[in-house]
Amino acid sequence: MCATNEEWFTRAERLFPGGVNSPARAYAAVGGTPPVFVRGEGAYVYDVEGKRYIDYLAAYGPLILGHAHPAIVSAISRAAAEGTVLGTTTTYEVEFAERLQSAIPSLERLRFTTSGTEGVMSAIRVARAFTGRTTIVKFSGCYHGHADPVLGDAGSGTATVGLSHVAGVPAETLRDVWSLPYNDPETLRTTMRKRGERVAAVLVEPVVGNFGIVPPEPEFLRTIHEEAARAGALVIYDEVITAFRFAYGAVQSLLGYTPDLTVLGKIIGGGVPIGAFGGRRDVLELLAPLGPTFQAGTFAGNPLAMRAGLALLDVLAKENPYGELERKAIRLAEGLTAAARRYRLPFTVNRFGGAFSTHFVDGPVRTYADARRADDRLFSRFFHGLRERGILIAPSKYEAWFTMVPHTWDDVEATLRAAEDVFAELARI
Ligand code: PMP
Repeated sequence: MCATNEEWFTRAERLFPGGVNSPARAYAAVGGTPPVFVRGEGAYVYDVEGKRYIDYLAAYGPLILGHAHPAIVSAISRAAAEGTVLGTTTTYEVEFAERLQSAIPSLERLRFTTSGTEGVMSAIRVARAFTGRTTIVKFSGCYHGHADPVLGDAGSGTATVGLSHVAGVPAETLRDVWSLPYNDPETLRTTMRKRGERVAAVLVEPVVGNFGIVPPEPEFLRTIHEEAARAGALVIYDEVITAFRFAYGAVQSLLGYTPDLTVLGKIIGGGVPIGAFGGRRDVLELLAPLGPTFQAGTFAGNPLAMRAGLALLDVLAKENPYGELERKAIRLAEGLTAAARRYRLPFTVNRFGGAFSTHFVDGPVRTYADARRADDRLFSRFFHGLRERGILIAPSKYEAWFTMVPHTWDDVEATLRAAEDVFAELARI
């Protein structure tokens, strides 16, 4: 019988490359062996040795009500009892899409997928079909899933394992994707003025979640919309992390802009695999069977995800937890910043609503280049210090912390006490 984390991870390594089914989960950047988990409940996750962690990883973004919320568990159980996949249009798809549409009015038409990756891939394809152009403009350090066209100069997992070029992605594919610095309106404007007639779409994380949490500066966002409109290019917001994270709906409503297309994922499925893309009706109606472009999926609109998503929206609409999620994130961000300052560590917290990121560098962190400069060694000691004290964050200096509904104020204060201890250790090295 295997008992320890080490033993389980050794077994995993004999099966999965690096012991993981998604590279962000490996401890490539921080060293050591990842614990192996067996369950989550509310704000906590438990490893195979029975150790409890306060969870700020939130599974990299899908969780907002915490683990195994009773309303979600009951929705999934009821759905499972009535058939886990039907391969037809279902009433639940219709109801869920109507609810999303009323929360995100720019979704005139939409399609469900099974992951954010597929949502982005399909949005790019339909944007190219609509404009008859090939080039996509994206931004350094943003991550849009693992489809070929978006793997150049990406953040998140690719940055964490140090891959600036991903082998196997054809150079021809990447020639049609221009990666520009985030929060740099001048470079964007110059590029679009010079060669904008080739651009099918500008693809952006409207608030970055993949090289830390980085809000867009007003002029940057304005320039995206102005220059895309001037060039006849579409604007695609990748809201896989941001939708329903900061408000009931997409972050576009907080920022005051309407993109042509929006990609969704993570939170909307209530913790069940999901993605979606949608937007302008004239663009989406290019999809088969109405039009000449194609996108599909056996599990797309899966009843488990639709019904978990509906249950999630019910709870979010009723409880409106966003103020409380933000207040807890503010307390954490301020507490961490004050403690790091006491120990004279280079440290910057970026925060937007209930999400924040911790950078071991003197700020500000506005671009991918800023985030990369953060100290790897300090982050990895910080990560392990927290882990030993039962606080779980992502093993990467590029990933966010998320507050979830079941985090208590006691959890928040316990986290700050643990961090204080860790900072004291870091100051001694
Ligand atoms: N877009 C963004 C902004 C993401 O953060 C991610 C995943 N981290 C994706 C797309 C890809 O989603 P998935 O992992 O569900 O394919």
